[in-house]
Amino acid sequence: MSHVFHRHLKQQYPTAVAGDGPWLIDSQGRRYLDACGGAAVSCLGHSDSEVQEAISEQVQRLAYAHSSFFTTEPMEELADFLVAHAPEGLESVYFVSGGSEAVEAALKMARQYFLEIGQPQRRHVVARRQSYHGNTLGALAAGGNAWRRKPFEPLLLEMSHVSPCYAWRHQWADESEADYVERLAAELEERIEQLGPENVMAFVAEPVVGATLGAVPAVNGYFRRIREICDRHGILLILDEVMCGMGRTGSLFAAEQEGISADLITIAKGLGAGYQPIGATLVSARIRDAIANGSGFFQHGHTYIGHATACAAALAVQQAVQSRGLLARVRTLGEGLNQRLQQRFAEHPHVGDIRGRGLFRGLELVADRDSKAPFDASLNLNGRVKMAAMEQGLMCYPAGGTLDGRQGDHILLAPPFILDESHLDEIVDRLGRAIDQALPA
Ligand code: PMP
Repeated sequence: MSHVFHRHLKQQYPTAVAGDGPWLIDSQGRRYLDACGGAAVSCLGHSDSEVQEAISEQVQRLAYAHSSFFTTEPMEELADFLVAHAPEGLESVYFVSGGSEAVEAALKMARQYFLEIGQPQRRHVVARRQSYHGNTLGALAAGGNAWRRKPFEPLLLEMSHVSPCYAWRHQWADESEADYVERLAAELEERIEQLGPENVMAFVAEPVVGATLGAVPAVNGYFRRIREICDRHGILLILDEVMCGMGRTGSLFAAEQEGISADLITIAKGLGAGYQPIGATLVSARIRDAIANGSGFFQHGHTYIGHATACAAALAVQQAVQSRGLLARVRTLGEGLNQRLQQRFAEHPHVGDIRGRGLFRGLELVADRDSKAPFDASLNLNGRVKMAAMEQGLMCYPAGGTLDGRQGDHILLAPPFILDESHLDEIVDRLGRAIDQALPA
């Protein structure tokens, strides 16, 4: 019996022993085409020699130095790189070990900012239903994924949730995009008024919703309207790009495509591409300056902040993304993937929607296409698709939100940026077989 406390204790996991580009190989020699990068992580695939060398070099020179004693070259260089490529106004980077930690840091930084500028009453966070911001208690409280929250509800901080921007399901048939945006804006305004605008600290959202809904971008103009509302009330905008950032949607930051910047942006996953665990919170000059000119100290911290080897790995990953022109490739491959998904599934009786941006694509599975009724949650259809896909030698990510208390079934694709066109055919072919195999008879 395994002594590992596995994610699922009633399940047997194959043992992954090697990586080969977009493939993972298990101890039986079976090969799995990684069409989801695990959870939108492995954007350079699994055997990038440049990143491997950068890690090895760094470990031999200096593996780690604690951030309360030293800075390090890779941490400084990575921060310089990120700020040079970040949306306007983000001028400082706080390094952590993953996505949840990045969200926790953003929330605490927002809080400390308001203490520093003499607005201690600002403490409310508004986020969105059907979102995911991580599994630590603060990030879980911000998230609106009912299934993930449920067992821990009594432990969660009170945060406020408004509707997501999820047009396929919630935009009315006779409603224009602009009117839909206005309806969501009015809902947010109303919530802010209820809480008292002077008490609200931050609004948190994923530019493209990942783990809960499977690659749902907002409609045009939504985020510009959100930005405007936040600014008018002095509320900080936190964009969670842990999943959709770092090139995944075809631009380094997803916010670029919304034409806005944020006060804080969280990133992880594609930052280190899985070669090392790393995340970061990008911080606006305004927040950094308030803390720098006030107490001078962010009252937070973890042992592995700015881990030298993790930063060296992430720097090598990001340099590879730039030098190999992979953002353009994400856009081209993303279109190719979308076309193939449309060809294969547009008429499929149980695929309600096909959506996404770049190499971040989702399918929503429904029991009935006309009514958009989901499958019964007890079927655990997205879990079954994941298992059937593994049998087909394919990894896809089962994203699950909740719809009126019922689980929705979404399949998320987030393959590496290094694929060629033939891999796209493989992905869609294997996924089609997996879905058909998993569907109830
Ligand atoms: N935010 C978003 C948008 C995510 O998708 C995730 C992970 N799926 C997290 C935060 C949490 O990241 P981690 O699992 O690295 O803690």
